[in-house]
Amino acid sequence: MSVSPALSPCFSAAPRLRPRGFHSGPHRSGGRAIDLRHEAPMLSVLSRVRQNAVVVALALSTITLFPGHDALASTCTYPELPIAPRPDYLSPDTVVLTFDDGPDLSNTPEVLDILKQEGIHAAFFINTATRDVLVDAPPGTPGRDEARALVRRIVEEGHELGNHTVHHLHLPQLSPAEIHEELGGLERTVSEILGTCGPKLTLVRAPYGEPYWFAPDDPTIPKVTSALREHGVHVGWSIDTKDYRCSEGDAGCVYDRVVRELDAGNYGVILMHSVHSQTVLALPRIVAELRHRHMKFATVEEAVRARYGRSSAELVSNPTACPLRAPAAETSLSGDPPSADPDCG
Ligand SMILES: [Zn+2]
Repeated sequence: MSVSPALSPCFSAAPRLRPRGFHSGPHRSGGRAIDLRHEAPMLSVLSRVRQNAVVVALALSTITLFPGHDALASTCTYPELPIAPRPDYLSPDTVVLTFDDGPDLSNTPEVLDILKQEGIHAAFFINTATRDVLVDAPPGTPGRDEARALVRRIVEEGHELGNHTVHHLHLPQLSPAEIHEELGGLERTVSEILGTCGPKLTLVRAPYGEPYWFAPDDPTIPKVTSALREHGVHVGWSIDTKDYRCSEGDAGCVYDRVVRELDAGNYGVILMHSVHSQTVLALPRIVAELRHRHMKFATVEEAVRARYGRSSAELVSNPTACPLRAPAAETSLSGDPPSADPDCG
């Protein structure tokens, strides 16, 4: 089995994992508090309590279930694209653009305009009820219809739509039922907007990347993961632009971060946020830089297929059947188109 370089051996509760280039806990820099959003390693864990299971083994990306009396150990993998600066299932010239926290009414449309102009498809991990996003606002609320139109536009223009939860809350602080509601509520709203034959959301990104940067034995990981796996493949990242830390309008700040990451040899999923003016301003420069370096633009689904050999929808419907594929050198990014629902023409 191929394992990402960011993954450490299963079952080691300590020491805490701290992959290169990522911070794993609260810290300060230059006397200024640092926002930890999207900064930590993805410690992906599946916890499944079965009738006679006596041990829930915590792992990074992989879990082994130990049924108590029959000594039968079955291994399954929670499907995810983990946080890893150089994912081995992609070739080093591959990037995937992803945008979180939209759709807001001012910056997300500009991101879409730029992507259209550049002919690039990206993934948008959206919320439906935050300070910036009015998709779930009561009917008649100014901006609600425009926000819903943006959800349609994302799909109509060929981008991937992912679930970033309704309210962008800290999932580890919620009950399992509340976590399901944060994910399921967004699925219902999107279905309402796109119709029942619209694309189903099978890509998920947890707000703040929590709890996947916590210690591997953090008790909230099984709770969050067991809920999350029913909704989608979790999508981590390789390059965090940290655009939310940059000042409004400061394109250079965002661009410089990307260049530093590329110079370090990192590639793969790039994390941005579609709700910041500095991201909008930096995006054309980032695209130009990537093209200058002859990087290829891929989609999240292509990355999922490169890692698992099947789509996120297939993985979510049968998450225990997700064998890792060979590393990128033997993997085609072309993939097959998603199978159509026969009832939806
Ligand atoms: Zn977010």
